[in-house]
Amino acid sequence: MEKKVDHSCTLDKIISLCKRRGFVYQASEIYGGQAGAWDYGPLGVEFKRNIQNAWWHYMTQLHDDVVGLDSAIFQHHKTWEASGHVAHFSDPMIDCTECKARFRADQLIEDFVRKNPDKDPGKPVDTMTHEEMKAFIDANINCPTCGSTNRKYTAVREFNLMFKTHQGPIADDAHLIYLRPETCQGIFTDFKNIVQSNRMKIPFGVAQVGKSFRNEIIFKNFIFRTCEFEQMEMEYFCKPGTDDEIFQNWRKDRWNFYLKYGIAEKNLNWHHHDKLAHYAKDAYDIQYNFPIGFEEIEGIHNRTDFDLSQHTKVSGKDMSYMDQDDGNKNYTPYVIETSAGLNRNFLAFLCEAYEEENVGGEGSEDYRTVLHLHPQLAPVTVAVLPLMKKDGMAEKAQEIRTALKEEYVTDYDQSGNVGKRYRRQDEIGTPYCITVDYDTITKDSPNFDTVTVRFRDSMAQERVKISELSGFLHNAIRNYKPVQR
Ligand code: ATP
Repeated sequence: MEKKVDHSCTLDKIISLCKRRGFVYQASEIYGGQAGAWDYGPLGVEFKRNIQNAWWHYMTQLHDDVVGLDSAIFQHHKTWEASGHVAHFSDPMIDCTECKARFRADQLIEDFVRKNPDKDPGKPVDTMTHEEMKAFIDANINCPTCGSTNRKYTAVREFNLMFKTHQGPIADDAHLIYLRPETCQGIFTDFKNIVQSNRMKIPFGVAQVGKSFRNEIIFKNFIFRTCEFEQMEMEYFCKPGTDDEIFQNWRKDRWNFYLKYGIAEKNLNWHHHDKLAHYAKDAYDIQYNFPIGFEEIEGIHNRTDFDLSQHTKVSGKDMSYMDQDDGNKNYTPYVIETSAGLNRNFLAFLCEAYEEENVGGEGSEDYRTVLHLHPQLAPVTVAVLPLMKKDGMAEKAQEIRTALKEEYVTDYDQSGNVGKRYRRQDEIGTPYCITVDYDTITKDSPNFDTVTVRFRDSMAQERVKISELSGFLHNAIRNYKPVQR
């Protein structure tokens, strides 16, 4: 019997497309690869930057009360003592004593329960003690690495996730330096600078995008979990007592960001934290329905006045705020944080956009691979294609491309038949293809000086005057509606 081809989106298909089309490569591949490290190729870097720009636009330009910051990766080591990361930023680890493989105990249990829903530990994994995790693993889980059924595991121990080294030639405690595990602490240490230099009044937010580093020991699922990643974080400073409502408002706002850029609501989920981080009063994750299941892409946390109070205590500098709009009352602001992973956003938007679409109708096996990316996220916005290289069509196409370059990221392709070229653009998510044909260059044709614009999602084509192309594309992007699937 003929095997039915699977046309669903899988992580393997995404990884393969990423490599084939230059979105993401394994880092140091020629040396066998560096675990948990990935390089973003020519299309990947455009796509990632577009997500970052969309986030920045959404958070700062559309919110009058949010300003930006780009703080250093290296902060004084006391920053991390104050923030609690030196003492608390750890994951529970367990080792198989037979093969020495190390696992995150909580993830080992979560993966097991996902595959064996009838064997539930009876409580959320993030509320289990070390002893409870160990007992559950001993009773149920064979070593995923060596397959041993003896279940000879160590005790569960905490493993600090911060990368640590020394700055300069002297390796003593005074020169200790950490690679930041989250971008936000620079926002907290600069709080007073921002208030004073920009006359900011509470409530207001500070947005930042940058690299963070965590010494994760388990890598799987491609770019989902890596040691080096980028975060898009916003810390919103507010008056204590107003924090609960502001927290709820930011939850809605951040949810809407994903809808705006094309994620279907059915593929988003709220996960409420049962066990809170040391700084948090309340916390929710926005999860996305990856091919591996619903997983976190963004955390929204009520951090209270924890960070500013801690920095006041450890630095000796007063981080409180004098509220001139409230009788000069002095208080330490509360903070609502929205913390999204840029790389996980990248993966989520890719998975959401991916479709193997039957374009031949019922009973046909004519499939195209298409990425229905929002035009503002797509790595290439417009591809210009001459129908043929000859008779001046290539030159005309180049001329059109040059005119559009200033406003849009463009591509030019003249090789192979035009149908194949459309498919190549579909596969990288190019929303608009412009085709130059004989009519375009034939003076007595009614379609002289016009081109066809082909829409990626509907595959419909429309004849447009060359002189009106720029405005036409501008409107198409502005009025874009994500496809419903
Ligand atoms: P997880 O539970 O998956 O380890 P987390 O709850 O520790 O994540 P946060 O500290 O809330 O994550 O960080 C905010 C965001 O940063 C996450 O929602 C995620 O998108 C991203 N992020 C965190 N750790 C990593 C990582 N190791 N690799 C890639 N992205 C990450």
